[in-house]
Amino acid sequence: MRPPFTGSQASIRLRGSSIPGAADRQQSIVGFDQAIFSRSSILCIGAGGLISQIAPTLVRKGIGRITLLDDDLVEPSNLNRQRFYIKDVGANKAVALARNLGRECIVATEICGHPMRFEESFMNALHLEPDVVVCGVDNNPTRVAVSRSFRTKGIPVVFTAVSRDADHGYVFIQDREGACLACLFPDILNDDRYPCPGTPAIADILQAAGAFAVYAIDTVLMRRPRSWNYRRIALSDGASDGCASIRARVGCPLHDS
Ligand SMILES: [Zn+2]
Repeated sequence: MRPPFTGSQASIRLRGSSIPGAADRQQSIVGFDQAIFSRSSILCIGAGGLISQIAPTLVRKGIGRITLLDDDLVEPSNLNRQRFYIKDVGANKAVALARNLGRECIVATEICGHPMRFEESFMNALHLEPDVVVCGVDNNPTRVAVSRSFRTKGIPVVFTAVSRDADHGYVFIQDREGACLACLFPDILNDDRYPCPGTPAIADILQAAGAFAVYAIDTVLMRRPRSWNYRRIALSDGASDGCASIRARVGCPLHDS
């Protein structure tokens, strides 16, 4: 028997329905393979600002399965940028987002929402073996746990985050080998802070970072080209934009441990 889930709501599982012809125009994008995409599985860690800009697009593109994890509840102050509606206020974010994604489907996507943090998924015996993970949480302890866990499993992770002033954001791909998140941010292992509630938040930078994250997923699953594993964007000043190929750091305590 499955152990009980934490949180105020039970997990949700639903399946979308196919719409003939809906994927016709993206199939001709060079490197995009609908058959591969529609049998692929994505795990979204977090179901807030960033994942609200990523998950609906993955579903619209016809992903095979998407699983969402978050223990947070929807508040009115989320509605300026997250894929929730007034009916969702007070509900668990992972469950509410999963429900809202149902109407976005163009294929028979399997959508699961679990009202729990990533760290709680172990005690709830969730077997999380996706093709790609997207980490869109707001704190470093969870990012570190995600980095370590999926490097061990050999599953790529797309990390994305935005700055507290909502001006810049980044996407970093931690692949099966090569640089891990702590190779990019060596101090991350020493940061156990959680952000204060009520920090400024707006949709535009989330959309910009989310777009690169969605593209990065395609490059991991298929043959869409990518020459970088770290991409940084700033809204106010294009000179701050850039990309890099981060290399594994010798002696990195996270991926070498
Ligand atoms: Zn490392």
